Amino acid sequence: MTTQDPFKFAFDDSTQPTGTNADSAARPASAGPAPPPSSSNDPVRYHALAIRNGACPQCKRQGAPVDLHETHWIWSALVITRYGRKTRLCCRDCGRSNYLKALGSSTLLGWWGFPFGLLITPYKIVMNLVGYLRKDSGSPSPQLTQWVRERLAGQ
Ligand SMILES: [Zn+2]
Repeated sequence: MTTQDPFKFAFDDSTQPTGTNADSAARPASAGPAPPPSSSNDPVRYHALAIRNGACPQCKRQGAPVDLHETHWIWSALVITRYGRKTRLCCRDCGRSNYLKALGSSTLLGWWGFPFGLLITPYKIVMNLVGYLRKDSGSPSPQLTQWVRERLAGQ
């Protein structure tokens, strides 16, 4: 039995905001599991590490580093081009699989619009390739850290 679930904490919107200090990304006094004093004085880093070392929300596997992965998508039809980004919290393997799918669909569907499909599709392809090839840094990414910070601040 684990004593705490970082995801539950990270996604838990039911805790009451402490109110006064906007910068109390520092711990919301009674809400959620308090970081053990020995681990770190930085709750953001503590929770980012807890998420990183937790189970993957996508494949439920434990032991593969979890982080935010942002895929890029685009599709076009004649004069219409739609594109965007999708951020998922998942392990490296799921992230790579997501990048490959996004790469495939962008390569197939992106080009068929003029002019934006032709202009933007190469960028989307490159961004998915970069995501796919990116090495794990060994610690929570700046994006994950920022995401945790925003969620703690919003408690
Ligand atoms: Zn996974």
